Amino acid sequence: MPAGIYIHVPFCMAKCQYCDFYSIVGNETTVDGFAGALLSEIEILGRSKWKERVYNTIYFGGGTPPLLGDKNISRVLQSIRGRFNISPRSEIAMEINPETSSPEFFQALREFGLNRLSIGVQSFDNDQLQILGRIHSVNSAVEAIDNAFAAGFENISLDLIFGIPGQSIESWRATLDQAIAKNPTHISAYGLTIEKGTPYHKMVDSGELALVDDDNQAEMYSATNEMLSSAGYKRYEVSNFAKPGFECRHNFKYWRDDKYVGLGPSAHSYDGEKRTANQKNLDKYIANLGKGKLPISFRETLTDKQRAEEWLLLGLRLAEGIDYNLAKEVINDQVKTDFIKQGYLRKKLNKIALTDKGFLMADEIIVKLLKS
Ligand code: SF4
Repeated sequence: MPAGIYIHVPFCMAKCQYCDFYSIVGNETTVDGFAGALLSEIEILGRSKWKERVYNTIYFGGGTPPLLGDKNISRVLQSIRGRFNISPRSEIAMEINPETSSPEFFQALREFGLNRLSIGVQSFDNDQLQILGRIHSVNSAVEAIDNAFAAGFENISLDLIFGIPGQSIESWRATLDQAIAKNPTHISAYGLTIEKGTPYHKMVDSGELALVDDDNQAEMYSATNEMLSSAGYKRYEVSNFAKPGFECRHNFKYWRDDKYVGLGPSAHSYDGEKRTANQKNLDKYIANLGKGKLPISFRETLTDKQRAEEWLLLGLRLAEGIDYNLAKEVINDQVKTDFIKQGYLRKKLNKIALTDKGFLMADEIIVKLLKS
């Protein structure tokens, strides 16, 4: 199976209140420093065992990848293509925020060979965008989607968030309606999670922010599946829905235990046995590469048990489910049988998968299935 390349661009124009991805508000100097270090990282990896593989996905994530700038994006892609075996029909994707999209930029991305965009719309309600601390408006999101189509992108995903404080089920349905009306090929719908260390976490702790309760979140998730499936989007992973043939090929690498190499601060790599993580700090990342060293801060070799756990934790998120035999060592058989009887899981031949009812509480079910 071909591998994937992930590039983490660690810059944002402002930090959203709920976000715990590694990103900073950069400037021209930090962006150029990062771009130089990234090119060195590509060069070093291009002389390593990663050179021997074939790749069929390149994914720019972040952060806000457009802040790397079109010239740097072009240089990075050129360098990757010159050093790695990139298959001709690869998925080359980028996460986009509405505040960083213009017709000229999208045109440039098309010329560089990008063929998939994931646009961080989050909500079609300006009040909710404000609560999330987003700096774009509904109008700019609509404009970004229109610009992306006009530039010739045929594979466009919209990222949405439900369970935003103060959001009603009606308002979530209205956001879904507007997303469907734009006719993207893919929609990701994530329930808002509160991560430790974020401003949101402090606000929830102090009672300043009231979360949407579990029942309402579950109702929003059910509405998502119902509305998107009626509109021709199939749920292929807990939070991801696609028109046939438009599933995100890069993200499948994580869920199906395929190999991927991650570049940029905080990026992870996995070669089927070993997992590594880069420094989650731009200065350290640049300093390491300045000395000709890979900026790795963590590495581990997975045991068979850890690999089986990964199969379960990640693979069971997929609608296709997992091969039971690959994870049976770590599955609590009694819990599995109970979940099948209660209608949360289904088993067909060697495969086990979540049912519609199971998808409603996927995280809980997957964790409970793990042998303690
Ligand atoms: S734009 Fe995305 S990566 Fe940047 S702070 Fe907001 S949620 Fe996080």
